[in-house]
Amino acid sequence: LLAVNHLSKNYGEKQALKDINFTVDKGSVTVLLGPSGSGKSTLIRTLNGLEDFQAGQIEFDGQVIDSKFKAWLPIRQKIGMVFQSYELFPNLTVLDNILLGPLKVQKRNRDEVVKQATDLLETVDLADYKDTYPRQLSGGQKQRIAIVRALTLNPEFMLFDEVTASLDPEMVRGVLEVILGLAKQDMTMIVVTHEMNFAKQIADKVLFLENGSIVEESSGSQFFDNPQTDRAKEFLESMD
Ligand code: ATP
Ligand code: MG
Repeated sequence: LLAVNHLSKNYGEKQALKDINFTVDKGSVTVLLGPSGSGKSTLIRTLNGLEDFQAGQIEFDGQVIDSKFKAWLPIRQKIGMVFQSYELFPNLTVLDNILLGPLKVQKRNRDEVVKQATDLLETVDLADYKDTYPRQLSGGQKQRIAIVRALTLNPEFMLFDEVTASLDPEMVRGVLEVILGLAKQDMTMIVVTHEMNFAKQIADKVLFLENGSIVEESSGSQFFDNPQTDRAKEFLESMD
């Protein structure tokens, strides 16, 4: 579904991604790990066209995207993204937050989208909250709404960047359960997380980044049980 070839990105003088190469199979879960500043968010944002890049290419769904590519809009419609900070619109109800994209951008039928949104809210245990406003929700609830909002756009691919990082510990599990549920339904995903048990549970593949380079690429079980590089070993020890 996705192939990244020789991708490099600079912020001015600073090289944030260096010759990144990997592929993502349809239905698989790729977990991005690495220390702070290693380039995880930059990579995720580049895959969604939120950051430009200087060299290499991204192939998504058969389409080749190079550094001069401009037509991101139709591609972004196939890629859902959820960040650390839940940017729900404060003046809209939960349901209206969810409906906005499907109705305004995708021009879909309202009844159909309301049905889908209602079903998805059910799956994240928030069916009773559709008429509430974001300020009435906990961080964990807001984050589950943000996931539902992304899913209602029917993405082929989901990107998650530390979606539990700003949550109280008791809120984390519920959000991770939702993502595990998506993996069971074979949603294709790239996940950045500091939750190592979760990463171990969900990862088909692990990419370990440091200083903008992929230092180790392994299957999930190999990475956690038998990391190949000293850097990955140190990283895992530091996370215990
Ligand atoms: P964390 O785990 O802390 O979220 P990360 O792996 O997501 O870290 P990035 O945010 O991708 O790291 O940052 C990678 C490098 O790029 C860092 O050195 C960072 O300082 C730099 N960087 C990130 N965003 C920008 C920006 N907008 N302008 C300049 N430099 C940036
Ligand atoms: Mg980050």
